[in-house]
Amino acid sequence: MIANINYVKNILGELKAKKKYGQNFLIDQNIVEKIAQIAADKNLSTIEIGPGLGALSETLLKYSKDVDAYEIDKDMYDILSRTIKDEKYHLYLEDFLNTDLSKYQDLEIRVCGNLPYYVTTPILFKLFNSKLNISKITVMVQKEVADRFKANVNSPDYSSLSLIVQYLYDVKYEMSVSKNVFYPSPKVDSAVISFIPKISRNFEYEEGLFNFIEKCFMKRRKTLHNNLKDFLSNEDIEKIYQTLDFNENIRAQEIKLEEFIKMYEVLNDR
Ligand code: SAM
Repeated sequence: MIANINYVKNILGELKAKKKYGQNFLIDQNIVEKIAQIAADKNLSTIEIGPGLGALSETLLKYSKDVDAYEIDKDMYDILSRTIKDEKYHLYLEDFLNTDLSKYQDLEIRVCGNLPYYVTTPILFKLFNSKLNISKITVMVQKEVADRFKANVNSPDYSSLSLIVQYLYDVKYEMSVSKNVFYPSPKVDSAVISFIPKISRNFEYEEGLFNFIEKCFMKRRKTLHNNLKDFLSNEDIEKIYQTLDFNENIRAQEIKLEEFIKMYEVLNDR
């Protein structure tokens, strides 16, 4: 069993966990089991991002059709190539940000990873923007990042990021995870979240909507009106305020996703 403190310390040997790659290894098999069971499906392939020493890989293999794992660090790759020998396991020495995902185009797949904290958002947006059929993304991230994805209207964490992600996915907060289940132990606690797609995608429409939402949050401390006047005519602004019955002092963080969609549709005469 890989997720265990003695194994991890022993196998790392002289090697030190590399901070620059966000390496914190799971040492609690109970957590690993829970994540793998949430993430995987026996009939589907799983892509794993950042397998490290293989704690998650080992258990994902039990619950998946097969596992494709992408690891950036040659030291981890060398260790893993020796320790997990399974024909269902395909290990790639690659920066996931540069990985060509087109080979997954016609498959329904799952994605899982205990993500390196320094590239959490770019990795997730690579997945969100890929045109793949990913039926669930389950990832471990820093707790504060999970809170931002999950944030609701009027909370301090509510932003264009929360809105864009919640438009595309049901975001499920699966569990909080103590920093003590990692070696070395990170400074902050983590959380496991899942993203389950909720709409059939229309990339052109989304691009326009997301662009509009981002512009509404451009000057966060100012009113919505103040943000809108940078890119809309007075007539359009009036049309929005009348249709949505907005108070003149309303700010973007007080506006729900449905209202952003309505605003955007008012502008585009849908
Ligand atoms: N999955 C292991 C576990 O849970 O014990 C390791 C998780 S550790 C937080 C993150 C892993 O991602 C490390 O093995 C690190 O080398 C790898 N990594 C960092 N940046 C990466 C990238 N851009 N592409 C692929 N792997 C990356």
